[in-house]
Amino acid sequence: MRWTRAFIPTLKEDPADAEVVSHRLMVRAGLLRQVARGIYSYLPLCQRVILKIDEIVRQELERIGAIELMLPILHPAELWRETGRWDLYGPLMMRLADRHDRQYALGPTHEEVVTDLVRHEVRSYRQLPLSLYQIQTKFRDEIRPRFGVMRGREFTMKDAYSFHADEVSLDATYGEFREAYSRIFTRCGLAFRDVEASAGEIGGDVNHEFMVLVDTGESVVFSCPSCGYAASSGRAEAARVAHEPPAGRDAKPLEEVATPGKTTVEEVSELLARDPSEFVKTLLFQMDGRTVAVLVRGDREIDEEKLGRALAVDRVEMAGSERVREVTGADVGFAGPHGLPKDVRVVADYSLAGRGNLVAGANRTGFHVTGLEIGRDVEPEDWIDAVRLVGGDPCPRCGTALDETRGIEVGHIFKLGTKYSEPMGATFLDEDGTQKPFLMGCYGLGITRVVAAAIEQNHDENGIVWPTAIAPYEVEIIPLNMDSARVVEAAERIYEECRAEGLEALLDDRADRAGSKFADADLVGIPWRIVVGDRGLESGMVEVARRSARKDMARFSPEEAVQHVRANVIRERRGGASEPKSG
Ligand code: ATP
Ligand code: MG
Repeated sequence: MRWTRAFIPTLKEDPADAEVVSHRLMVRAGLLRQVARGIYSYLPLCQRVILKIDEIVRQELERIGAIELMLPILHPAELWRETGRWDLYGPLMMRLADRHDRQYALGPTHEEVVTDLVRHEVRSYRQLPLSLYQIQTKFRDEIRPRFGVMRGREFTMKDAYSFHADEVSLDATYGEFREAYSRIFTRCGLAFRDVEASAGEIGGDVNHEFMVLVDTGESVVFSCPSCGYAASSGRAEAARVAHEPPAGRDAKPLEEVATPGKTTVEEVSELLARDPSEFVKTLLFQMDGRTVAVLVRGDREIDEEKLGRALAVDRVEMAGSERVREVTGADVGFAGPHGLPKDVRVVADYSLAGRGNLVAGANRTGFHVTGLEIGRDVEPEDWIDAVRLVGGDPCPRCGTALDETRGIEVGHIFKLGTKYSEPMGATFLDEDGTQKPFLMGCYGLGITRVVAAAIEQNHDENGIVWPTAIAPYEVEIIPLNMDSARVVEAAERIYEECRAEGLEALLDDRADRAGSKFADADLVGIPWRIVVGDRGLESGMVEVARRSARKDMARFSPEEAVQHVRANVIRERRGGASEPKSG
């Protein structure tokens, strides 16, 4: 491809609205343009990268026996009503009506549609297992679309769904997908790890997220340097300790103290000269029509995802200030566990385990209590693990201090069991002659998010440094001076030879200054470059450099240059560790 024909609208300036480097570079390097919030046009360079990722995904999924199909984007509401998700999905789902006022969703995910297909077409255990996938546009009306294609409202996902007669088969396929994902991300040149995760809207128990580790990632990952435990923040478990306070301790009496106008742990801690870790925070939630008081240590936070799971509710919502006043008889900021009405369910987080002589709200405006003992002054109905971990917390498996890192979730795989097949009546005739609901797995991979994640991990101060396996072109030929017939002729010949050798070549045939061509070459990040100039040609030489290590430039004859690049590119196309990481 010739640059003058390739439609690569590079920019000299950073776009004002781009917060992360991948977004900035995708706009500047002419890969991306925004149409509306979270909605983008992928320009030709970007499309080439997407097609390469698609191809890697297809190869690795075909290898484990998954079959590609294409499901519709437009989903009738009735299907989503069958599983209750028409309501549950809430404002994240884009909805519209047709001319007859029938309701539809623009698919945010495809469990309902694929289960509907399979329940009509697959009758017998003999047809199982079955793994189907598509590469398809998804729509989610994200609250905060941001970071470019990292969190779009319209984006491309590879989603796969597997159907099984029994757990053994589901486990086997789940394991195969997990390995296929590892191969896909490795081939895309990403440093990643898979972690235990929480299921969100999709549901099911066992699930793993694939995290690309970068500081700008929106997800938080806790990992153990010693035993290998790794989990995303909404899943990471606190290490358990006995919740009884140590025996033979001198408990103090419960006493009220005046704390006028002091409503936060920090303020009361300062006033009473007690450490925040000696406080009980009492958080009131409204769940399934009941008020739940969640007790957590004063210096720690509750993770709402963990809380929902611990209490087996779909959605947790803080109680409004009206409800807080009703329940505690006090203003917000003075809630405590002691003496709450009987119909309030009290649960305690393990962060309070083993603690006594605590400070808490007194359920009286302007007062707190000291000397609070859990077990004596309040008996929690349950002990739960709902605390948000912080780096340095002990590993739940081995006790070593956990590392806290940030990551970009690029893939998420789930064992769904019968969560969808049961409500949708999707059954098959099993070997024993009975009808059973399919066991299912589902496997998502954010294609367009992978593009952004790859740039987050592979760039330098001048631009993108594409891993060869997903680069839009493999080699860029740069004639330094388009006025020189000799240079142009040599560059054209090298370009043709590259193409004849099966290399994906880009010839920068613009009449621009050499400096601005180099700047754009750095920005766009093609892994190999062949530079053709008058001075080199005098001794029959051209320069070859790789984008990731421009200083290690080497001189070759034009023929050797092509062969040198070809040999390297062939090795790098399969992906993996051949490209050094930067960024
Ligand atoms: P997140 O937690 O980032 O919102 P999710 O858990 O809701 O994502 P899944 O339902 O697990 O997402 O979707 C599978 C994959 O699709 C994700 O791992 C991610 O790579 C990609 N993805 C999800 N939402 C978006 C989005 N808004 N823009 C781009 N890619 C997305
Ligand atoms: Mg997810």
